Amino acid sequence: MFSLCLKQNYPFLTNYFEKMFSNDVLKIPNSIVFYGLDSLAQYYFSLNIAKILNCLENKKIDCQCQNCNWINKNMHPSVITVSKTDTKPDNDNSKTVISVKQIEMIKQMIFSRPIDYYTVVIFTDNEIVKTNTVQYLKSKLDGINFPHPQGQNLKENEFYLPKGLSRKVFQEEASNSLLKMIEEPPSKVLFIFLTKDLNDLIETIISRSVTFCLNSNMKPTFDTSQCNEVFDFYFSNIKYNPFEFIKKLNELRKNNKEESFSYLIDTFEYYLQKLLLSNINNNKLTYLIKKDIQTLENSKKMENSYVRESLIIENIAFNFVKNRD
Ligand SMILES: [Zn+2]
Repeated sequence: MFSLCLKQNYPFLTNYFEKMFSNDVLKIPNSIVFYGLDSLAQYYFSLNIAKILNCLENKKIDCQCQNCNWINKNMHPSVITVSKTDTKPDNDNSKTVISVKQIEMIKQMIFSRPIDYYTVVIFTDNEIVKTNTVQYLKSKLDGINFPHPQGQNLKENEFYLPKGLSRKVFQEEASNSLLKMIEEPPSKVLFIFLTKDLNDLIETIISRSVTFCLNSNMKPTFDTSQCNEVFDFYFSNIKYNPFEFIKKLNELRKNNKEESFSYLIDTFEYYLQKLLLSNINNNKLTYLIKKDIQTLENSKKMENSYVRESLIIENIAFNFVKNRD
């Protein structure tokens, strides 16, 4: 399904998505945010997802079906790149932002699209750079050379380099005009937003999306050795106790002062997602784990709004109680 270089560099994420696409337990979300430093990989990953969702044949990476071919050329009618320069209406002169007019047009496109395709809309910033300046970036992805999105006229030695969205490029008004559609999109529509940092997108987009870290530091280096202890209530007949959980988390924080709090949460998420995959046939458990992952996701948003760490920990602990009601 995913190309080899993505599988090698992001074994966990590619595995997670392949599971998602091949069974009904993990529902395909309406909206995904990829965050991290490597926007090129994020963009490539997004195109790869579009291929898997649209392939008419075996979903193999070298498939030559019409949809895969179109996506390889980056000219599929339903795989749309939206940036300050891509997919603009004719009467729109803005060149530095994704405009409200543009969003209105995208919404029209989505409503009138051919329903045989899975529509994937990728929101990104970009920069046209000289090809020789990105050799290193490209080499990490097998020298990947995806064509620029339709409509971009590039010279021979130029390269379309996707960049993470910022609030300057994707401003509040334009973001807001998209919210309702993200929340209740027509069927078979997936929005993907690329950004360096979750703080670079408005909160209302983040809260309606599933977020995944896709970083240049590719292989996950999470140390999950302490997680079994923290999450012991999944395994035995131990009843979940929020105070116990808070105590363990505070302990953990005391002993790992040099690590950021968000790293800890990411580690938990990584651990739970692995737990989810290894218990995919246990409906009750997967349901619970998914709720807990969502709780951790939400806690990241609190962190982004500078809520105190101890409050976030309490919030997680008591939301875990609610998840078990
Ligand atoms: Zn195909």
